Amino acid sequence: MPNQKPQQQFTQQTTAQHSTQRTLGIIGGMSWESTESYYRLINEGVKAKLGKLHSADLMIHSVDFAPISALQAKGAWEEMGVIMASSGKRLQAAGAQGLLIATNTMHKLVDDVQAATDLPIIHIADATADAIKAQGLTKIALLGTQFTMTQDFYKQRLIDAGLQVLIPAEDERAEVHRIIYEELCQGQLLDSSRAYYRQVIETLAAQGAEGVILGCTEIGLLITQADSPIPVFDTTAIHAAAAVDFLLNKD
Ligand code: GLU
Repeated sequence: MPNQKPQQQFTQQTTAQHSTQRTLGIIGGMSWESTESYYRLINEGVKAKLGKLHSADLMIHSVDFAPISALQAKGAWEEMGVIMASSGKRLQAAGAQGLLIATNTMHKLVDDVQAATDLPIIHIADATADAIKAQGLTKIALLGTQFTMTQDFYKQRLIDAGLQVLIPAEDERAEVHRIIYEELCQGQLLDSSRAYYRQVIETLAAQGAEGVILGCTEIGLLITQADSPIPVFDTTAIHAAAAVDFLLNKD
C-alpha cells in the first residue's frame, strides 16, 4: 500500500536516489531580504559547478522576523533559542543533512540549534575567517548589528581564528545598527546610508583595517567592493559559497 507510506520516508528516498547533492536546510527569514540573496547565490553556485539545469537541493524554513527582532531588542535570547532549535529540528525531520543559519546575529544561538539536532551546521564566522586568512589578512574591520559587533559569540570566534578585529566607534555602531533594522531589513536602500557606511569603512581603514567584514547578511545589498578602499568580505556570499561546497561534497 504505497500511499500509506509516511511522507518523511518518501522524501528521503527520492533525495537519496535522484540527487547528486546533499540536502541543506536553511533557517531563514531574518530578514527575508537576505534569505532571497542566499537562495539566488547558492543556486548560482551549484549551476556554476554542475551546469545546465542543475539547482540547489535545499529547504528553507523562513520565520516571521517581527517577533524575533522584538525579542532581540528585549534581550530574550533564551526564548529565541527555543524558536531556533525548533526550526532546526523541523528541517532535520524534513530530510536536511546539514543546516545553515542565514544571519550573523542569530549565530549567537548556534549552540541551541546544535543541541537540538545532530546535523552539521555551516558556521558563518568560521567560513568568513577562512576567506580572510586565505587572502593573508589579519587586521579586519567588522560591521554588523550591535550584537555582532560587540558580543563575544562572533568577535571572539574571529579572534580565536587568529584575526585582530576593529569595530566602529559607539555612535557609529548605533547608526550602522539602525540602518540594518529600519532600512536594509525592510528593503530600503538609501544613498545617504551608503555614504554613511562608506565613511565608517574609510575611518576603520585609516585605523589600519586591511579588510572589512560585511557582518550582517543585508549589508551586501547596500555596499559592494566599489564602496570600499579595502577588500570587502560579504558574509552572505562567503556563507553561500560554503553551502555550495557542502551540497556538492556528497560522499
Ligand atoms: N541579517 C542580519 C545579520 O546577519 C541581522 C538580522 C538579524 O538580527 O538576524 O546579523
